[in-house]
Amino acid sequence: MAESARALKSIDTVPHWINGARVAGNPHAWGEVYNPARGEVIARVALASREDTEAAISAAHAALPEWSATPAPKRARYIFKLKELIERDANKLAAMVTREHGKVLSDAMGSVKRGLEIVEFACGIPHLLKGEFSHQVGDGIDSHSLRLPVGVCAGITPFNFPAMVPMWMFPIAIACGNTFVLKPSEKDPSCSLMLAELLAEAGLPPGVLNVVQGDKVAVDTLLEDPRVGAVSFVGSTPIAKYVYETGAAHGKRVQALGGAKNHMVVLPDADIEQAADALVGAAYGSAGERCMAISVAVAVGDAGDRLRAALIPKIKALKVNDGTDTVAEMGPLITREHRDKVQAYIDSGAKEGAELVVDGRTHPLREKDQGFFLGPSLFDHAGADMSIYKEEIFGPVLTMLRADNFEDALKLVNEHEYGNGTAIFTRNGLAAREFSARVEAGMVGVNVPIPVPMAFHSFGGWKHSIFGDAAMHGEEGVRFYTRLKTITSRWPEGFADGADLNMPVM
Ligand code: NAD
Repeated sequence: MAESARALKSIDTVPHWINGARVAGNPHAWGEVYNPARGEVIARVALASREDTEAAISAAHAALPEWSATPAPKRARYIFKLKELIERDANKLAAMVTREHGKVLSDAMGSVKRGLEIVEFACGIPHLLKGEFSHQVGDGIDSHSLRLPVGVCAGITPFNFPAMVPMWMFPIAIACGNTFVLKPSEKDPSCSLMLAELLAEAGLPPGVLNVVQGDKVAVDTLLEDPRVGAVSFVGSTPIAKYVYETGAAHGKRVQALGGAKNHMVVLPDADIEQAADALVGAAYGSAGERCMAISVAVAVGDAGDRLRAALIPKIKALKVNDGTDTVAEMGPLITREHRDKVQAYIDSGAKEGAELVVDGRTHPLREKDQGFFLGPSLFDHAGADMSIYKEEIFGPVLTMLRADNFEDALKLVNEHEYGNGTAIFTRNGLAAREFSARVEAGMVGVNVPIPVPMAFHSFGGWKHSIFGDAAMHGEEGVRFYTRLKTITSRWPEGFADGADLNMPVM
């Protein structure tokens, strides 16, 4: 059997990874994994029962004492090894992203590299875990702080970045001395399994990283089990809110990142060609299935007509095809249901009175209806009361609104329910500075359409794009995955000096 055929065969059934081995478990049901470009089922995935999920938590719990006592530099060496192995297998990981998610191969590779950056960041964990020391805070008294592991941590991840988003979480968590149970999206589950196997190849002790494939049953078990100390979630806003509330009610710390509706404000003095190129990349890359996709353009003053004229030919020229086609720029959507939901938004936007300037419903691949394709769409003159503006569509649909001036544009962004990322395109430094300071969003780009922070900064939105107060990775990630302990010590000589019932003061 050829190598590639063997690789395909081996993922026909996607199992769990528990205690250092593939485990079939006793699934409460099976899920179907599609190749979205072909519309075909390519694998089935075990949806973990409560017992399967508890087995993963037990493995993580049993591995915790030894792993948390392992010196940080030694833990970091496993992460260094993981970095080498991901570099070796980056092509395989990217191919798997394309196969199960559908995004084009070059974009899939970009997402693997952005995940790898977090692994590189986690290699520096001994430095990041250093505490603080204060000498002589009182007479003969010193004070120092430690950052210690939380315990068993869980990660629940979305379909749109099946390699990168898990890598936002587990490398930092395990480098900090925690053990981990990852519950990836059941729509594209294989990358998580590949990453767990790479860590095993790196020599990571069994039980430190576990993967349970599954759905709500697995998530609820993770949220309720008292052995889980912290939960990281990335996904849609209603589930983020549910995970935050349920996890917190069970005494866990939770960081839950939700959906988005990212606006790009284009001022009249912007370079319109540059802004149009940026919009096309940010709106239609990954078929709009990015939490940092720009889905709204706010054109100020006379920028609107010029921007529209620049956008139309660029959108019409976009090459949509199977992500393995090396000239394709945009692939299909994740499932037929999701494609139909996005199409229903286009129907409703047209009915509500927005002008449908480019109609993705008429794309030849949509009409052929083999894979889950939809062409790129552009609305102009949309209103702030329309569902295509208010709700997250998560597809290749860009909605343009017109604003009279900077203040009106800023007000639109700030009054929106979501506040993940945003961008401004202008040549005016003062306007950009004002926008950055006053805009209600967690990540801001100035002439940068997708301002995804580097690994050593932190990723997180505002408003209904996040529940909980810790963003992902960077120092925020280290703080989330550690508990602070502050020790005050004194080594007195001679006789006891008698009881003092007053509050100690210096
Ligand atoms: P989703 O919320 O449907 O699923 C996310 C995870 O939650 C999956 O692992 C899924 O199995 C689980 N889940 C789904 N329904 C559940 C339920 N009822 N109870 C418990 N668990 C449940 O999200 P998705 O469709 O996989 O991903 C797309 C969404 O993720 C978009 O809204 C996008 O904006 C968001 N997202 C946000 C960020 C961010 O950083 N803010 C990053 C990527 C994606």
